[in-house]
Amino acid sequence: MTVRGWAVVAFGVLVVAGIVLAAVLIPWHRPPAPRADQLGALGQFDKGQVDKAKAFHAALRPGSYGSMLIGLVVALVLGFTPLGAWLVTLAGRPFGGHWVARALLGGLLIVLVSEVVTLPFAAWRHTIVVRYGISTQGWGAWTVDLVKGWAVGAVIGGVALLGFFAVVRLAPRWWWAWGAAGAAILVVLLSFVLPVLVEPVFNKFTPMADGPLRTELIQLADRDGVPVKDVLIADASRRTRAVNAYVSGFGPTRRIVVYDTMLTEATPGEVVSVAAHELGHAKEQDVLVGTVLGALGTAAAVIGLYLLGFWSGLLRTAGVDSIAEPRALGLLVAVAAVAGLVATPAQAFVTRQVEARADDHALELTQDPATFESMQRKLGSVNLAEPDPPAWEQFLFASHPSTVERMAAARAWARGER
Ligand SMILES: [Zn+2]
Repeated sequence: MTVRGWAVVAFGVLVVAGIVLAAVLIPWHRPPAPRADQLGALGQFDKGQVDKAKAFHAALRPGSYGSMLIGLVVALVLGFTPLGAWLVTLAGRPFGGHWVARALLGGLLIVLVSEVVTLPFAAWRHTIVVRYGISTQGWGAWTVDLVKGWAVGAVIGGVALLGFFAVVRLAPRWWWAWGAAGAAILVVLLSFVLPVLVEPVFNKFTPMADGPLRTELIQLADRDGVPVKDVLIADASRRTRAVNAYVSGFGPTRRIVVYDTMLTEATPGEVVSVAAHELGHAKEQDVLVGTVLGALGTAAAVIGLYLLGFWSGLLRTAGVDSIAEPRALGLLVAVAAVAGLVATPAQAFVTRQVEARADDHALELTQDPATFESMQRKLGSVNLAEPDPPAWEQFLFASHPSTVERMAAARAWARGER
């Protein structure tokens, strides 16, 4: 069999494995939240509150979708014209066109172009979240976060680019196999190591002081069979008024993290309800499942790129000789952007199913649908979530069920319907 033949086989195996695992591991069938209950829940909201949330999201929309559109157009132009290849050549020129310079500086230049064109939209969005009192950051702190994000991205991206093009040079015929394995390993590393390394770059974490809430959270986790090592408070209030909590780490390092904003805004019972939802993710191994599927998908994507490299018309459009040369980075970005268009709604659908399961877990664990509902209402109000957002937006982009869907699910659960 030819090398290309092996690639086709490997691609097929990964895709089938991914489909089988996704079919088994993703909770595809969750009972829908009854619309009558959703409307009942909506009636619980203060009209002024709903109008304010609507206005907030209407104000954000042009910036969000504008950024998305411009980002897509720039990616397509970089990849489907010779512009991207030209930029990479330009970046490598001071270093005699050395591949390391092209891979590293060329890659950073391509990403920088995309970042710079969408930057005005990000700044516009910041003015809105400040105006509506969600963000507590001034321009200085906002810029520092932006630069920190770029720095983290540049380090990870730099390692990935150097690793990828080094493999291409070492194994010109089999790079796709090594690249697929390396990319899968990188996904696993990023998923397990990144939170531990990156969280402290953006926030400070302090153990929650001993007291009834801490005791209750630790007992809740024990009762659930997902013991936690610690309960930490994140200093989220330095940048936002939004409230949240999450569980991070695995096994002996697992901890519950609560935003400090949550402690001032929510009742202890509501904090317990949120933590119970997060423990649901831990119990169902949602991060692990997501990581495995992500690793399989990424490995398949690398092999898919290799196979795409046999499409000479595509290479000509981008003005490159091979899909595995640094000058093809723009093309890779464009292909990723097109793939993202299809993947985003699918991914959003899956995460909504997973989130609905974690909600059901919280209801089972706390046996307290009333507090769950008041927690959802509070979370929605404080975070200025639109309680009942437009269906198209919810379908295409939402990572969580809407606030009224989550409240309605609690009502259905209380009647024994879930
Ligand atoms: Zn969740």
